[in-house]
Amino acid sequence: AASKAGGDVTIEYGKKLNEQLLSRLQLETDLRHAIERGELELYYQPQQSMNDEGLIGFEALIRWRRNGELVSPASFIPLAEETGLIVTIGDWVLEQSCLQLQKWMTDAKCRITVAVNISPLQFADPFFVNKVERIITASGVNPACIELEITEGVMVNDIGATTKMLKALQNIGVRLAIDDFGTGYSSLSYLTQLPVEKLKIDQSFVRDITVASPQQTVVQATIGLAHNLGMIVIAEGVETEVQQRLLKSWGCDEIQGYYYSRPLQASAASVFLYSRKITTIVDTA
Ligand code: C2E
Ligand code: MG
Ligand code: MG
Ligand code: MG
Repeated sequence: AASKAGGDVTIEYGKKLNEQLLSRLQLETDLRHAIERGELELYYQPQQSMNDEGLIGFEALIRWRRNGELVSPASFIPLAEETGLIVTIGDWVLEQSCLQLQKWMTDAKCRITVAVNISPLQFADPFFVNKVERIITASGVNPACIELEITEGVMVNDIGATTKMLKALQNIGVRLAIDDFGTGYSSLSYLTQLPVEKLKIDQSFVRDITVASPQQTVVQATIGLAHNLGMIVIAEGVETEVQQRLLKSWGCDEIQGYYYSRPLQASAASVFLYSRKITTIVDTA
């Protein structure tokens, strides 16, 4: 009887595994067709200057409208990375971001930035720099208004190669930011060598700054370090006025988070843009 029960459990387990495999396979198949079916969509989250509380620009954040349901990137970016689909998706994200920015600049006659997330796999592509240049040139936007966000993960391997790549990107004229700073394993000595303009403090640190906590110390120290290296600092995941005020008192330059605005669909982002004071940080024509 015992072995029979055990056998049933195994069958049940096997079924579950099968279902999981099938749904993963289905997800992968669906994702392959998501672009051509027009199911991918960019949301835009506003970024605010601490100086004069003006709008600096937006971060483009991808969403997948799958069977009418909005899927968050956490549920499909990992799969897109495993399958290599992220390269095609990443091209689409950059193209869309440039087109949207071009539209905003034409309509609003203002200079804002759009930040685009770059996956380590895109960054590893030897033709990445060429591709970025081609996409930006084709769109007609000022490259200085495009900011590429890379995570610490892309640079741990080979600091020399990473630096070379980042310099090549800067030569095109795009701006560079380190995303989710503090969550990776890069050493501080790397940071001093990297040619990047901006550091994004991860939201996991921002969450607990309103009480005496190690996070307070980390955030303050990070702001000081970044400024000493000539970098701009933006805090992610700012949800409350208390957090905003603290960050401002510590000299943080910019914020992004629900306190200022949630990520918005393009049409809502346009309304946001047209109704706000703009803080221009890019002054090339
Ligand atoms: P991220 O680049 O660090 O983006 C910030 C995430 O924090 C976004 O989640 C945003 O919606 C969320 N967020 C913003 N403000 C707040 C806040 O005040 N509180 C809280 N709790 N969350 C806030 P989202 O849109 O789900 O994106 C998650 C991650 O997926 C991104 O993290 C990024 O790593 C990745 N991702 C998003 N779009 C793309 C893309 O186009 N390409 C690539 N490669 N990755 C992307
Ligand atoms: Mg980001
Ligand atoms: Mg982040
Ligand atoms: Mg993140």
